[in-house]
Amino acid sequence: MSARKDTVYRVAIDGPAGAGKSTVAKAVAARLSIEYIDTGAMYRAVGLKMLAAGVGTGPADAARRARLLSETEIDFADGRIYLDGRDVSGDIRTDGISRMASECSALPEVREKLVALQRAMGARKSVLMDGRDIGSNVFPGAEFKFFLTASPRERARRRFLELREKDGNVRFERVLADIERRDYDDSHRALNPLARADGAHEIDSTDMSADEVTELVLGMILEARAAD
Ligand code: C5P
Repeated sequence: MSARKDTVYRVAIDGPAGAGKSTVAKAVAARLSIEYIDTGAMYRAVGLKMLAAGVGTGPADAARRARLLSETEIDFADGRIYLDGRDVSGDIRTDGISRMASECSALPEVREKLVALQRAMGARKSVLMDGRDIGSNVFPGAEFKFFLTASPRERARRRFLELREKDGNVRFERVLADIERRDYDDSHRALNPLARADGAHEIDSTDMSADEVTELVLGMILEARAAD
């Protein structure tokens, strides 16, 4: 991994749902003073818009979907995500939207639109992006690539604790089943499936805290940049 100092560079952090990517990504980007882009939030925003408009993922809705996508704008500002100018950061964090995001992320037209947007966002400035296909597809030439994993039970436990803050009735077994299903769908879809990119450093965070993972990732980046 290498990146000359003072030049634009990209950091890709990929991995399955609940591996702690966004916590680590936010902290690392802040310490490097570069922009953080949560690509999962972009698929969630599209899922939210499709659900609200009653546009499905099947072939019968292809034309309405194309129109909806052509009229969709997604921006990030101050750590918030804006869909057509509206802050949807809170609305996209529900179980229903997780499922819809996963379903619509398998559609070629959705991926085409969002991948083009992501490439444009990282074209001229240093960025840290997290997602499923950043190191393998969006920025295969990224200077720094990480693949963050944890066991399904541990990922479900973290997600369960997060969801329980909002909903006391949430059940662990359901969260685990949801994580397992999304793992399967994300790694078996035909287009840009979840997979460790060539040259990505794999970090298993099952027994690590978010702070420990942050320090490890940051240390590798700073060391490589200092050596350059
Ligand atoms: O990371 P998060 O759980 O918010 O992502 C929501 C969904 O968006 C994932 O389940 C995955 O299907 C999809 N996704 C994707 N490619 C990315 C980021 C997310 O397909 N780069």
